[in-house]
Amino acid sequence: MQTSGIDKHTILNPVIKGITVFAEYIADGALVIDDQTGLVVDYGSSASIMAEYGRTQQGQQPVQIHDHKHKLILPGFIDTHVHYPQIDMIAAFGEQLLDWLNNYTFVTEANFGDRKVADDTAKFFLQQLLANGTTSAMVFATSHPESVEAFFTQSTQLNMRMITGNVLMDQNAPEHLCVPTEQGIRDSQNIIDKWHGRGRQHVAITPRFAITSSPKQLKMTGELYASYNDVYLQTHLAENLAEVAFVRELYPNHKGYLDVYADMGLLGRYTTLAHGIYLDTSEYEVLRDTGTQIAHCPTSNLFLGSGLFDLSKTLSYTGVSIATDVGAGTSLSMLTTLSEAYKVQQLQSNPLSAHQGLYQITLGNAQSLLLEQKIGNFMPNKEADFVVIDLGATALLERRMTQTSSLEEKLFVLMMLGDDRVIEQTVIAGVSRYKNRTRV
Ligand SMILES: [Zn+2]
Repeated sequence: MQTSGIDKHTILNPVIKGITVFAEYIADGALVIDDQTGLVVDYGSSASIMAEYGRTQQGQQPVQIHDHKHKLILPGFIDTHVHYPQIDMIAAFGEQLLDWLNNYTFVTEANFGDRKVADDTAKFFLQQLLANGTTSAMVFATSHPESVEAFFTQSTQLNMRMITGNVLMDQNAPEHLCVPTEQGIRDSQNIIDKWHGRGRQHVAITPRFAITSSPKQLKMTGELYASYNDVYLQTHLAENLAEVAFVRELYPNHKGYLDVYADMGLLGRYTTLAHGIYLDTSEYEVLRDTGTQIAHCPTSNLFLGSGLFDLSKTLSYTGVSIATDVGAGTSLSMLTTLSEAYKVQQLQSNPLSAHQGLYQITLGNAQSLLLEQKIGNFMPNKEADFVVIDLGATALLERRMTQTSSLEEKLFVLMMLGDDRVIEQTVIAGVSRYKNRTRV
């Protein structure tokens, strides 16, 4: 058992655009974790927790107390759309989506048939997630099954709750990255059989997007998706105008981009589509009617010059999560991602509050992925994934925090200025997996 402390007690429940976000802040708080199961046992004021759990009972495991006084403890961050192989080509200059894919992404992804490259990169990527306070993610691998094997092997070792799958591509991509239509589907089937539901791992069927899968492959993808109740599906939608035009050229008889996915059976509550910037009203209605979720990736949309995502409009139809989309995204930090999301919404006169942002990257993203029974906050029996945050991690943050008078202000400063430097420790299912070496 472990307990952790912070200062004073307030409960906040701000209402954002019709959605009530319950945020609970316990100023001198403690969290109780069962070391055997890695689950949360209880949380509350440190006085009440210490009175109830602070002493080892006879015949019980000794109580360990971890003191994090003056630090903020938050649920682990969740990234709902990120490409792990692209960590090696993050920050590549000057192109928009389709050229960027051809000139940088496909070149890098070609290396992932080599299991050693995949293992090394998956390991590095997961360490980077931990250093940024991200404890769960929905991830693209490459079209090589080895890239998925490598990822799940590493995430299992760290006991992180992760979702991934082999990327399905059988056209409009370099030949060495395309996998024959049926073979790609067979690879996905084998990966589901081996990994879905094993420990904390889930599989997502992962067609890259409408351009790089043939109609036949998209149809087979829909059939595979329909044959499971809880396998995910992830792909991209309407990120860039040239992409939307290309899909129209490939599918002249469909009503639009989303209609291709609807027709192929790819939509549903377990589906997350990244971006969704260029949609018309009938497409928003299809998202709503099918429960299909959108992942908003602000640093990626800005970096590739894709466009401005309309958060409040999309939220009025369906669930939205916030994600990094590295390597088009420029940071694995969900805090940095929130600060860019804030700026994208500012340009549309819809400022994102710190409570909405922090709710979104924890419980909100968990709900979008239907994982809210397992992760996202500190309710008893949830998995104890959390981050210890130092609000004074840099000289600027420390100085700026002294000029704040409310929790809302402090959290907003954290959202705008925070990044990997504020993450002091990251804990996965009760086990500390990362400590910031610059401070401990
Ligand atoms: Zn992406």
